[in-house]
Amino acid sequence: MDGVVVKTTLQLIAPGILVVFGIAFVCAWLIEKKRNYLFLLAGACLLFALGAMSQILGWPPGAGPNAIVSGALYTAAVIAAVEGILLRSGKPLGPVLDMAILAGFVLLLAYFFYIDRRLVARVYIQNFGYGLLMLITAWRLTPLARGRTVDRALFWVLLLFGLHFFPRTLLTVGFTLPVDKTAFANSMFWQALQLSLAVLGAGLALAILAAAVSDMIDDLRRERDLDLLTGILNRRGFHERVSAYLRKHGPGHAALALCDIDHFKSINDTLGHDVGDGVLEEVGRMLRSASRKRDIVGRLGGEEFAVFLPDTNEQETVDYAERLRGAIEQNSFAVLGGARQVTASFGVGTLQPGDSWPSLYKRVDERLYEAKRTGRNRTISHALSSVSADAPSVGSGYALPQLQGQDGVRL
Ligand code: GH3
Ligand code: MG
Ligand code: MG
Repeated sequence: MDGVVVKTTLQLIAPGILVVFGIAFVCAWLIEKKRNYLFLLAGACLLFALGAMSQILGWPPGAGPNAIVSGALYTAAVIAAVEGILLRSGKPLGPVLDMAILAGFVLLLAYFFYIDRRLVARVYIQNFGYGLLMLITAWRLTPLARGRTVDRALFWVLLLFGLHFFPRTLLTVGFTLPVDKTAFANSMFWQALQLSLAVLGAGLALAILAAAVSDMIDDLRRERDLDLLTGILNRRGFHERVSAYLRKHGPGHAALALCDIDHFKSINDTLGHDVGDGVLEEVGRMLRSASRKRDIVGRLGGEEFAVFLPDTNEQETVDYAERLRGAIEQNSFAVLGGARQVTASFGVGTLQPGDSWPSLYKRVDERLYEAKRTGRNRTISHALSSVSADAPSVGSGYALPQLQGQDGVRL
């Protein structure tokens, strides 16, 4: 093998690595095709590799066409990369702007080759232009700097990549560059460019891949913790979030409301399981819309729902449960077609010093059981249960609904 072949082969290693990254992005995209940005990033790697190969292998032949074609491929690669990163955050520039930027670069490169023949101008246009595109992207994505570790890493690699174009070009180019092909290949500018693009390019590709994998894991976690029927948390998700809250805040000011639909089995038995599902969906929706952002809302199983309410005292929790109980009772469930009414029973309690999740749940579940035992369609709180049964404090806020003797579901 002669020296030229060895040198050309060595030069092809960098585009080869880019092709490997491109394939990795294609594989990630094939796993989840809804993440279109991965396809754009695969395109960015492959376009950049093509640009490098066109320069190294001298295709198309002729300095002018080669400069324009490789310049267009590099520019398209940078646009695809920034557009991919922006699309991931839902802030793409859009195809019209993409095409306008690409056309602008190609026209400028052609002008400074065919009309005003200046290699230095072309080098500055490409390097400062790409740096500027990356800085604009980083600026649009500043919220990432406050996000997860992978998002912060992506933001800083992008910012560093964008910034580095300016000092590197100024320090290695100055005002002149050798026009001769061999001298240009040996110039400080070309060597520094190869090194910085290899290091920062690999860093950026790894940061995006890590962010993409992290996105997928987060989505899977979310799905694992959600109840598919109602869209609120399932038992596992609810328990995990409440445990995390208790670990973080300790036994502070918080409350739990448990809700169980009355005689739900008879809805299933008389109208069918699908109608039962429809009722569960509707109750889930009502719970969600009655809750604040910081409340934790879940379906613990069957027709039992739970809401954990941070910074809420007993009175406020009883009021909340009563509001919901009234809303369920008044609601005309579309899925039932007005055939029957639905009611629910509530148990309510607040976090006590030394409480753990099991002890809080057990106490509130006992209240819920009491609500069922004493007639259903009512709210029982810890404070209420200590009030004499003869003197329920109706109107005191711990209001027992005046439905004694009625069973929850009225046919
Ligand atoms: P109570 O008033 O004492 O709470 O009586 P209930 O009939 O509501 O309670 P029970 O525990 O006897 O029955 C609950 C029923 O909920 C039994 C089960 O078949 C049904 N169920 C559990 N999960 C689902 C579900 O996802 N969809 C539907 N449609 N039914 C479910
Ligand atoms: Mg029930
Ligand atoms: Mg139940």
